[in-house]
Amino acid sequence: MGEACDDLFENALQQLHQAFEHIDVSDDVKALLTVPKELVTFNIPVRLDNGDLKTFTAHRVHYNDAIGPCKGGIRYHESVCLGEVKALSFWMAIKCALVNVPFGGGKGGVQVNVKELSKAELERVSRGFVRGAGDFLGPDKDIPAPDMYTTSKIMLWMSDEYNTIKGSYQPAFITGKPIELGGSEGRETATARGAFFCTRELAKAKELDVQKTTVAVQGFGNAGSYLAAMLHDYGFKVVAVSDSQGGIYKKAGIDPVKLKYMKKKWKLSIPELAKDMKAKKITNKQLLELDVDILAPSALENQITKKNARNVKAKYIVEVANGPTTPAADTILEKKKILVVPDVLANAGGVTVSYFEWVQNKEGYYWDADTIDDRLEKIMVPAFHRTYELMTEKKVSMRTAAFLTAIQRIAKAVDAKGLIGV
Ligand code: NAD
Repeated sequence: MGEACDDLFENALQQLHQAFEHIDVSDDVKALLTVPKELVTFNIPVRLDNGDLKTFTAHRVHYNDAIGPCKGGIRYHESVCLGEVKALSFWMAIKCALVNVPFGGGKGGVQVNVKELSKAELERVSRGFVRGAGDFLGPDKDIPAPDMYTTSKIMLWMSDEYNTIKGSYQPAFITGKPIELGGSEGRETATARGAFFCTRELAKAKELDVQKTTVAVQGFGNAGSYLAAMLHDYGFKVVAVSDSQGGIYKKAGIDPVKLKYMKKKWKLSIPELAKDMKAKKITNKQLLELDVDILAPSALENQITKKNARNVKAKYIVEVANGPTTPAADTILEKKKILVVPDVLANAGGVTVSYFEWVQNKEGYYWDADTIDDRLEKIMVPAFHRTYELMTEKKVSMRTAAFLTAIQRIAKAVDAKGLIGV
């Protein structure tokens, strides 16, 4: 596990070094972007419902804060490790700079399987994370958010813990909160909406006939389920979806809203619903290798590797998950002329609306859902086209094009400041 972990950060650094080959930036910038600024690892002691004490290892990383305070989610997963959190915080720094959101990159993770905990135990883990991280977090220093297996409810517990410690109401401490308690309209759907805008603009750029364009979505959580619904609603043919237990395939197309409703109501996994959806059961491995136009990995990292990249038949990959494609796979996909819309662009809708939430919290004035979606579109659509054009102009991958824009912005901030305050 530790090895796989370091691999993910190594993958991130490989992407960075590939971008350095196409950009003229100072050695200061190169040095600062190759290592995280600071990090903390701690153990959260939690009293379980049965009276036992259990500790959960947690990490929080500040990768780079040249542009602004660090921003990034907290992941709950039993395999969370430091290398993964470092990689994710690095991608956050690139992502924020790419879409011009005034934040640096941060990320956190707790080694925990949420499915094994009661609600009360989960609350104690979440409050414990805030106590353990202490002053490493703060509304003008490092603002957490949800990630895999962390929800608005968890953000609320963390927010409440912070307010209790500080003795004042500080909603800008964390984003992804429930709407009634300082959250933003549109945050729940933001990552998917951003990915949807990218997919729609990709279809326009490639002059695809949307009605005939088939899509497979891996992962049916916050990002994947809303994305599938938005694509279906727009006219794309979503033919396959999956969760951690496996997936389903239906040539005529799946109704993701109906599937989500049944999954929630009956508490069943996607493959268990194959019959009800009149679809065929498939594995996650098969989903990645389906003959579809667009593949949207929306679950975990390292899904498309040198082992299966040659079998990928999709013409386009929209990376909703962070780090789903390894650098070795990227090389294979490039040779196969498969266009990859990179994670740092495709899933940037989440951090963009998190930024909107933070601004609203600071102002104490809240925007309506249409304003949020409209402002998100005004950021995502130009970001997609700028990156697409730079890719064409520089003859590089779309990932490298995204990195070039981001590095340029970070470099300006670093060089302007000198070494003080970076
Ligand atoms: P989530 O916890 O809501 O959903 C995760 C989904 O992935 C679930 O459907 C789960 O069943 C599925 N899954 C888990 N293991 C799997 C496996 N081995 N194979 C296939 N599916 C599996 O998480 P999310 O918030 O939707 O995040 C998904 C991805 O998107 C992550 O990589 C996350 O970092 C990225 N992301 C999320 C946000 C956000 O705002 N939620 C923002 C940016 C990036």
